[in-house]
Amino acid sequence: MIIIMRKGASKKEIECVKKTVREAELKPIVNQGVERTVIAVVGEITLEKAVLMDRFAALGGVEKVNAISKPYKLSSRDYHPEDLVIKIRGVEIGGSEVIIIAGPCAVESREQLLETAKAVKAAGAKILRGGAFKPRTSPYSFQGLGEEGLKLLAEAREITGLPIITEVMDPEDLDMVAEYADILQIGARNTQNFKLLQKVGKKPNPVFLKRGPGVRIKELLTAVDYILSEGNQNVILCERGVVNFDNETRNLTDINAIPVLKKETHLPVFLDPSHATGRRDLIEPIGMAAIAAGVDGLMIEVHIHPDKARSDGAQSLWSEQFSGMMPRFKAVAIAKGRRLG
Ligand code: PEP
Ligand code: MN
Repeated sequence: MIIIMRKGASKKEIECVKKTVREAELKPIVNQGVERTVIAVVGEITLEKAVLMDRFAALGGVEKVNAISKPYKLSSRDYHPEDLVIKIRGVEIGGSEVIIIAGPCAVESREQLLETAKAVKAAGAKILRGGAFKPRTSPYSFQGLGEEGLKLLAEAREITGLPIITEVMDPEDLDMVAEYADILQIGARNTQNFKLLQKVGKKPNPVFLKRGPGVRIKELLTAVDYILSEGNQNVILCERGVVNFDNETRNLTDINAIPVLKKETHLPVFLDPSHATGRRDLIEPIGMAAIAAGVDGLMIEVHIHPDKARSDGAQSLWSEQFSGMMPRFKAVAIAKGRRLG
């Protein structure tokens, strides 16, 4: 249920609505929009819904009360009509600029990370990625450097000025990862790990939530509400391919999801063409398609020696390839009325 306040409703009227919501044993979550205030009412409604709606509608300053039948509420534009812009160390995500996040799949060594970081920065990337805790299909594959990897990321940020994003897999590591990372990545294997989502929902760091390959768009947005309802309002969504009946590519890029998500939610939407395709020769065409479809940014794996990478080498770009394709990404962004780089 969503309570839309009149333009210019007073602080006192808003407080009174919040109090009435709490009295019904529900939780009010307030979006102070540019135009007007919207109050989402979340929780399990045990009272007669129509009675409750009438009670809220009768309060001072209330314009109307809408029942939201969707399973997600806080991630919906019904609650938050304007696009969300997230600012991190001077970088604006969800604004007019298409933001490129780039870096290696995994942090492997100081030299590998620093060289890659400098190269992606020179090419115009705005955020550095790198996994310190890697969710590998096999327990015998490289699992990441752990805290040592986080320290190297922090050093790379120090040197390049690029904000850093890294994955947190285990709620037990969250406090440590959140100390180092500017943005917390939740990987495709954890899209519906609700306990982890609730925990990152209590952190101040923006969250980059990837869509699992078998997760429907509605389920993704409902998962987001697990984060938003804990207080953290800064979530970025990332499409990275859905299950595929063909084996030419690792996953099947769901381009449809991009405009669908942009329509449904105010949250910034990214595409990761590296994991969506699994092939470095497809990063450029699929990245361009995603920008044309309206993404707010791309996440791309880049490595100084992809042939020696300890994870995802086949989909990682050489830094020269990455810098070569950036002007073409920019051209598509400009055609969409956006900026890049
Ligand atoms: C990654 O970004 O390195 C990663 C593991 O991604 P995903 O969760 O999309 O597989
Ligand atoms: Mn990877």
